[in-house]
Amino acid sequence: MDMRVGIGTDVHPIEPGRDCWMVGLLFDDADGCSGHSDGDVGAHALCDALLSAAGLGDVGAVFGVGRPEWDGVTGAAMLTHVRELLDAEGFAPVNAAVQIVGNRPKIGPRRAEAQQRLSELLGAPVSVSGTTSDGLGLTGRGEGIAAVATALLTLK
Ligand code: MG
Repeated sequence: MDMRVGIGTDVHPIEPGRDCWMVGLLFDDADGCSGHSDGDVGAHALCDALLSAAGLGDVGAVFGVGRPEWDGVTGAAMLTHVRELLDAEGFAPVNAAVQIVGNRPKIGPRRAEAQQRLSELLGAPVSVSGTTSDGLGLTGRGEGIAAVATALLTLK
């Protein structure tokens, strides 16, 4: 079987008062990230990993600031579009994993919900995890949220 692995990362600054969309969910108890999208770094890293695995470039090339038609796009819509791009190139997702690095929102209490949401959008199992940077760096100081993702594809 022809398998392809990919990696993705993303980091956005936290914008106090902004809705917090993360791993496809709205968290009421945290500030969201700024950006020309909904700031869902988890969804962005996941899209990047999928594009990486397929050799289709990156989120910046597909949805970046040079593509104003994607202004304000949700992470869910981005993931749906990436799934269509993969399908058009003959790729099927096998599974993916995304990890959020930050103090808030807390992923654990809503992990199952996030995994279900992202897995539905991708059409393959997506694992979701969270960690902190132990008070260090921009994530530890609460200035931003980071995400890392991997994805595995197969050629149909
Ligand atoms: Mg991003």
